Amino acid sequence: MLNYEQALKEECGIFGIFGHPEAAKLTYFGLYALQHRGEESSGIVISDGSQVREQKGMGLVADVFNEQSLSALQGNLAIGHVRYSTTGSSMLKNAQPFLVSHGGMALAIAHNGNLTNAHELRLGLEKKGAIFQSTMDSEIFIHLIAHGLERGFEPALSEALSQVQGAYSMLLLTQDQLIGARDPHGFRPLCLGRLNGAYVLASETCALDLVEAQYIRDIEPGEIVFINKNGLRSVKPSSKTQSAFCIFEFIYFARPDSYIFGQNVYQVRKRLGQMLAKEYPIQGDLAMPFPDSGNYAGLGFAEASKIPFEMGVIRNHYVGRTFIQPSQSMRDFGVRVKLNPVRSVLKGKRVIIIEDSIIRGTTSRNRVQAVRSAGAREVHMLVSCPPHQHPCFYGIDFSTRGELIACHHSVEEIKKFLGLDGLGYLSIEGLVSATGLPESNFCLACFNGRYPVRPDSAFDKLCLER
Ligand code: SF4
Repeated sequence: MLNYEQALKEECGIFGIFGHPEAAKLTYFGLYALQHRGEESSGIVISDGSQVREQKGMGLVADVFNEQSLSALQGNLAIGHVRYSTTGSSMLKNAQPFLVSHGGMALAIAHNGNLTNAHELRLGLEKKGAIFQSTMDSEIFIHLIAHGLERGFEPALSEALSQVQGAYSMLLLTQDQLIGARDPHGFRPLCLGRLNGAYVLASETCALDLVEAQYIRDIEPGEIVFINKNGLRSVKPSSKTQSAFCIFEFIYFARPDSYIFGQNVYQVRKRLGQMLAKEYPIQGDLAMPFPDSGNYAGLGFAEASKIPFEMGVIRNHYVGRTFIQPSQSMRDFGVRVKLNPVRSVLKGKRVIIIEDSIIRGTTSRNRVQAVRSAGAREVHMLVSCPPHQHPCFYGIDFSTRGELIACHHSVEEIKKFLGLDGLGYLSIEGLVSATGLPESNFCLACFNGRYPVRPDSAFDKLCLER
């Protein structure tokens, strides 16, 4: 089997619901809508008010659950999680939601983000005798809460949250309560919706849309919401902190039909393309994306530059993550099976590829080569974000500098490596202005190296496994 996945992997998606008799099925649908945020494992934990049950597995939501398994998950309160590993390896013991029982109380967590002081916290807890079942940073929350439970659940939760640093949008489930919390910087999105009388929490609004829940508002940075039979109560234990929304959610991660940080992702991506056209008034015969990532910036670029938009490569929607390996003689099979160039569109043309980002560069290189082989006369690339020169410690899968081509190479060197005639990146100013929000609202650390929260020195993806 050949695993050809080289593209940037995503982070995690979370969904929770309180007060609906079909909580398991709706959580399944919510996770289905959030599948793009994590493909490695999926899980649901559900409560009927006294009994708490879980089902988790490796793989996509549709692989892990079926009618029969969902019908065994009875209750009106549930949380779910889809995962791509950003701390801890990809294995079943690291699948979420993570459920424990402590002193007769069930507690489950579903977490999106990375705790930057996880290593230090875990060492401290282990010294006090804590035994960890997984290598996920999310389990640290559970231990921190358990350590303070003699003072009551809410003080224990507040105390635990005051000790963790970094990025978290998370859901907690007890027998009779759904809790949502977002870190004081608000790195990752988390929104609130209503479905008839039920409350819904989700990473992105596309999940609300699928279950026909009405969007109410975003959970604010530093806010905790407690949802139970008495309704919703909001508390903000931490003092106001400068927000640091992950701007890469707009560029790459979030689904274009979602609204995050108050903006529609589709429209922001289109404006990114328009800004590219403004910054690079270059000549070309056609503008094209590598579907689907560059589609919306490509549309915006074509509209603003008046250069015709074409689909120069066609995506095969039926390619799974692994497939039977072809014989050695089939060159670039992995690229062609997924994206096949359209010779009649590309032959003899000056092609401008609009790409959302270049992380490691290897995938882009193969794709550029495929466009050239189809007869393109010139191949240029415009990227709808600045060069990634710094690692991310907040839940995105490039936590070391070695993984980033722009960290060690100039734009000219990257252009040569990719086999391009021209290469241009969007400026930070252009990127921010396309969002319609002030620069001070965002984390831009992977572009400018200014980290809103410094990680501890031992931090990396596998730091809890050593
Ligand atoms: S470093 Fe980049 S990818 Fe990571 S949270 Fe900040 S903006 Fe997002």
